[in-house]
Amino acid sequence: MDAALPAKPSFDSGGEFIRDTRRDVERYLASARTRRLGKLRLYAKSIVAFALLFGSWAALVPARPSVWLVPILFAGLVVGTILIAFCVMHDANHGAYFRKRRLNHLLGWTADSLLGLSSYAWRVKHNVAHHTYTNVDGFDADITQVPVARLMPVQQPRPWYRFQHLYIWPLYALMALRWQTIGDVSAFFRGSIGRSALRLPGGWDLSGLVVGKAIFVTWAIVVPMFFYPWWAVLAGYLVLSMVVSVVMAVTFQLAHCVEEADFVTAEQLTGRKRVWAVHEVETTVDFSPRNPVLTWMLGGLNYQIEHHLFPRVAHTHYARIAEIVQRNARRHGVRYVVHGSLRSALRSHYRHLRAVGRMGLPVEIEAG
Ligand SMILES: [Zn+2]
Repeated sequence: MDAALPAKPSFDSGGEFIRDTRRDVERYLASARTRRLGKLRLYAKSIVAFALLFGSWAALVPARPSVWLVPILFAGLVVGTILIAFCVMHDANHGAYFRKRRLNHLLGWTADSLLGLSSYAWRVKHNVAHHTYTNVDGFDADITQVPVARLMPVQQPRPWYRFQHLYIWPLYALMALRWQTIGDVSAFFRGSIGRSALRLPGGWDLSGLVVGKAIFVTWAIVVPMFFYPWWAVLAGYLVLSMVVSVVMAVTFQLAHCVEEADFVTAEQLTGRKRVWAVHEVETTVDFSPRNPVLTWMLGGLNYQIEHHLFPRVAHTHYARIAEIVQRNARRHGVRYVVHGSLRSALRSHYRHLRAVGRMGLPVEIEAG
């Protein structure tokens, strides 16, 4: 099946829309005070994330609190882990944290040590496969989930997809668990994620992978076993992993897998070369931009359009950058979609899943 896929699509990297948007964003970031404030907010949030995760874990595991404190501390552990995933690991692995690549990789290593996922594989899966080939069938691994689910109209229909709007939610909960156990390993064996090459790590990358996994298993499973029965540790690990997983999967799906987003095949891109920036904006939507709690918790990923255009800019700037992108999109006739609330984005994702699960192939795919 892989052999049937065409060569990697390429985009037109220019265009007036991105030229004007970049110019305006550079103007906004030209102020040293603005840049410093954005970094300070990013670092302050990271301190909260680390303090919450380590503090909750220390109070929950070695300190063995009274029973009524357990759910509160566990909730702290869950929120701390979500903050690490969205506000530290994601930014750092994009290189948005520091100027030096090594420092970004070091902080991005929180993926291995605190989330149980390989940061080395994440950078291929997320930075390359997803960010370069957003919503391109077979190339963007996030949106290519066949034969489990059909997320784009261009994928082949199957009878069970009729029910995907119902069964997909528990599968979202298993996503992190899969990556923590067999996901990374099987991707290394395959040597690819989507159609992007994944080379076997060596040197520092290999050490980071092995040591990171060992640290994760130690704090998440081994140490808690000294203080709690095995079934309580297992239940805690599963709940933590599943909650973080649902929040991560749903956040990314609400940005790309909705009625308003474009979905394309590599053949379509070969036939009609698309302007990269327009492709990114039209395959992505923002949601609930006026919800400060959500924006803070999700590392600005409710401003996913801005993230896709400027992944190396700290997420604390996205709300201001959104005004610039929106203004230029209007000026250049680029479709820019915002769901005003989390609820409307969720409804759009649900309706998209149900509609795509039931439809036949688009006429041009069937014919060609
Ligand atoms: Zn990203």
